[in-house]
Amino acid sequence: MNRTNNLKRLDETIQWDVIIIGGGASGLGVAVDAANRGYKTLLLEKNDFAKGTSSRSTKLVHGGVRYLQNGDVSLVIEALKERGIMRKNAPHLVRDMSFVIPSYDWWTSPFYGLGLKIYDMMSGKLGLGPSTILDRKEIISLIPNVNKKGLKGGVIYQDGQFDDARMAISLALTASQEGACLLNYINVIGINKENNLITGVTIKNQVSGLEKEIKGKVVINATGVFSDEIIALDYPESKPKIRPSQGVHLVIDKTFLDGPHAIMVPHTSDGRVLFAVPWNGYVVLGTTDTPVELALDEPIAMESEIDFILENAGVYMTKKPTRKDVKSVFTGLRPLAASKGNSEKTKEISRSHKITISNSGLVSILGGKWTTYRKIAEDTLNKAQAVGGLPERKCNTEHLPIFGHDHKSKWTEPLYFYGTEALKIKAINPEKAETSLSKKFFISENQIIWAIQQEMALNLEDVLARRTRCLFLDAKETGIIAPKVAEIMSKTLGFKKTWEENQVKQFNELIKTYQL
Ligand SMILES: Cc1cc2nc3c(=O)[nH]c(=O)nc-3n(C[C@H](O)[C@H](O)[C@H](O)COP(=O)(O)OP(=O)(O)OC[C@H]3O[C@@H](n4cnc5c(N)ncnc54)[C@H](O)[C@@H]3O)c2cc1C
Repeated sequence: MNRTNNLKRLDETIQWDVIIIGGGASGLGVAVDAANRGYKTLLLEKNDFAKGTSSRSTKLVHGGVRYLQNGDVSLVIEALKERGIMRKNAPHLVRDMSFVIPSYDWWTSPFYGLGLKIYDMMSGKLGLGPSTILDRKEIISLIPNVNKKGLKGGVIYQDGQFDDARMAISLALTASQEGACLLNYINVIGINKENNLITGVTIKNQVSGLEKEIKGKVVINATGVFSDEIIALDYPESKPKIRPSQGVHLVIDKTFLDGPHAIMVPHTSDGRVLFAVPWNGYVVLGTTDTPVELALDEPIAMESEIDFILENAGVYMTKKPTRKDVKSVFTGLRPLAASKGNSEKTKEISRSHKITISNSGLVSILGGKWTTYRKIAEDTLNKAQAVGGLPERKCNTEHLPIFGHDHKSKWTEPLYFYGTEALKIKAINPEKAETSLSKKFFISENQIIWAIQQEMALNLEDVLARRTRCLFLDAKETGIIAPKVAEIMSKTLGFKKTWEENQVKQFNELIKTYQL
């Protein structure tokens, strides 16, 4: 994945089979599938890959116990199947995680115990292990810091966990390996037509400022919460199809759980679920479901959402987290596909995906989950090949290993998410391979060089937010190491001191929004 080479390919290619707008879970999934089917594929992302919602999820690869409560059985079955496929194809990025539902009354354990048996059954052969009802002593041994006052027992069940931004980068690398041309920092600013049928897009290179027309047989809109903007470029009179819903996460120290298992709170004060999940040496708490009007690149957590998470998580913990315990706060926007006008509350809107085709042939992906990204891509291309008049070809991604695929990856090792590539990263400079720039989390000089040379990272934020996850783990500590990381980057890229200083200045502004 080399940006300069890919820009050259962009100049040399007269017409693409498939142009994908958006480099999140949906767009990257389509790029993998399209390239694997042998189509000439181009993906354009206006920021960095996964800068949008796809780096801001709760990081669960799950069927969604909550959707079962809502009666969305088909979504749960589909997501459980995809959970198993994702686990099999990306074992270095997806791992099994035990979730504990503590109970403080007589009915919670039998009620959720039964529901989770159905959840287990629905996952069939791709199940990750059976759920079990446990007594008080067993729950305490699994979650030593669980609130013990009134604790009766609980239920344990199995789901999956992943690193969302790393999965996105690995999908980009998979697509690239399959022959796709991917470019970050390319904004689609126009949809071009002849005789009312789409012939391509107009782009603006966010780095050079250059604009250009690109031709393609079919254009796929995979822009998440920004989908209505692209639909409006095609047909300005169209009604909004996306209802953005904001979700906030707070990251706290691992000692709040003190163990490898997660807590699932089945019923919060607003009737949703809340998770406390161990992740990369920290604990992620979340999330909320707040309807918002505007789709922003950097959505901001509301005070009420922060209070809600701290209060609801605190009920289940011996040590109650407070604002000063929060190491990082990150916020994402769900691109929900509204089905009944605007009447439903966002928590009631199904998380399943829809694919629409406009009169001029724009294929738009609406809604969906990270877990189902592969199925979304399959469904999208099955429709898009007819729209673009492409030769009909079958989807093969169910059995396609994701870049770095490695069964031996150990999550206890800091470079686990690179899979087979970890050895190559260590080899860049073996003497510096084990040295971290931070004492709080692991980030090595080799990783920074790798991100630039192999993963198309262009700036400090790309490296610290998505190639590594430092910003999402501990914002203050990330600010401390940022000047050193910028120095290594400018040395690798051959840039001047002014570049380094500007990067740190810009990044410091961003960090403020990840801190309370
Ligand atoms: C709080 C929260 C928690 C979640 N937790 C989970 C979970 O645990 N498990 C799970 O399975 N799912 C989860 N989800 C859902 C999942 O994260 C999303 O469904 C998924 O990431 C959406 O991906 P996407 O590609 O559609 O959108 P995005 O990731 O937003 O990608 C769209 C991309 O399009 C780009 N773009 C926009 N306009 C243009 C343009 N004009 N030109 C070029 N590019 C453009 C954007 O920059 C963006 O990168 C969660 C969602 C939220 C909000």
